Amino acid sequence: IVEFKEVFKSFPSEKGPVEVLKDINFKVKEGQVVCLIGPSGGGKSTCLRSINALETIDRGDIEVCGIHYGTTKRPIHKVRQNTAMVFQRFELFPHLTAQENVALGIRKVKGLSKKNSMARASDLLIRVGLTDHQHKYPDSLSGGQQQRVGIARALALEPKVLLCDEPTSALDPELVDDVCDVLVDVAKSGITMIIVTHEMSFVKKISDWTLFLEHGTILEQGPTQELFASPKTERLQQFLNKVH
Ligand code: ATP
Ligand code: MG
Repeated sequence: IVEFKEVFKSFPSEKGPVEVLKDINFKVKEGQVVCLIGPSGGGKSTCLRSINALETIDRGDIEVCGIHYGTTKRPIHKVRQNTAMVFQRFELFPHLTAQENVALGIRKVKGLSKKNSMARASDLLIRVGLTDHQHKYPDSLSGGQQQRVGIARALALEPKVLLCDEPTSALDPELVDDVCDVLVDVAKSGITMIIVTHEMSFVKKISDWTLFLEHGTILEQGPTQELFASPKTERLQQFLNKVH
């Protein structure tokens, strides 16, 4: 459902272009949950954002739901029919209530009427445990609640692939589990998910396959249990020891 083939990407800098993705290859099958882990600056976000066309790539090919994109600029609308993103900093509209935040995307992308989109938003907010908070504005919700709105908003688009970039790293520690539980629940519904996270216990709980990215390269990838139980590279071993 998602495939990277020999993907390269660089960003310009004062000292010339810096390669942040170097020969990235991986495959995500329908219904699979894949986690991207690795040290800061390794290229995890860039990798995720290039699936969603928030970044364009320099070389290689990215397939999303049967469509090959390569280095072409993609119409954002088309990509969003297949993917949706949960952001680290929630990115909710402050002047809209939880329900309106979720409804907006449905109205824009799915073309539903205001009434229908609000009803659907309400159902989704109930699903993420926010039954009593639908009419609140983001600044009167906790971080964990705001992120659950973010998840509902992404699910509202009925994406084939749900992308999450550090969905819990802006949260107070005691709120992390709530959001993780919601995502584990979402995963059980069978949706394909690609998640960047630093929460290793969450990775073990949710993901089938894990990629370890460092300096723009995938140093290791494999079934999650196997990768954690017997890392092949010293780097991954060190990384896992440090984050535990
Ligand atoms: P973190 O765990 O800190 O979120 P990451 O693995 O997500 O890190 P990326 O955000 O993908 O890493 O960044 C990879 C590299 O690309 C970093 O060196 C970063 O400074 C650089 N980079 C990212 N976005 C840009 C940009 N828009 N312009 C220039 N350089 C960028
Ligand atoms: Mg990142």
